[in-house]
Amino acid sequence: MQGLGHSQSARTTMDVENIQRRLREFSAAREWNQFHSPKNLSMAMTAEVGELVEIFQWLTEDQSRHLSTADLERVSEELADAQIYLLRIADVLNIALEDAVLEKISLNDEKYPISRAFGSSRKYTDL
Ligand SMILES: [Mg+2]
Repeated sequence: MQGLGHSQSARTTMDVENIQRRLREFSAAREWNQFHSPKNLSMAMTAEVGELVEIFQWLTEDQSRHLSTADLERVSEELADAQIYLLRIADVLNIALEDAVLEKISLNDEKYPISRAFGSSRKYTDL
């Protein structure tokens, strides 16, 4: 399948810094930095996540796992929109996103030890 996010030679890594640089250039060229406060970017990201959720709204669990090609394309676009804003927020706040994500995964590893969390959807406070 071709289209957004479905290149034939699938990349295995995301070059976050390159994408952030492209977004910085995109924004600067349009004099949009004035609008890109963390508050505005967070709200924009939430709106894009809302667009993602809208695709799944009213679908059954099974339908959500077996999307049409058109819906999969829409999901790909909304994920990209949300990711763009996420990367932009991290950039304007000088947050090293990879470090933050890896740190959070380590914290989740501690909060959800396999011995207690295996096969459970409970929150860590209820394990
Ligand atoms: Mg969108």
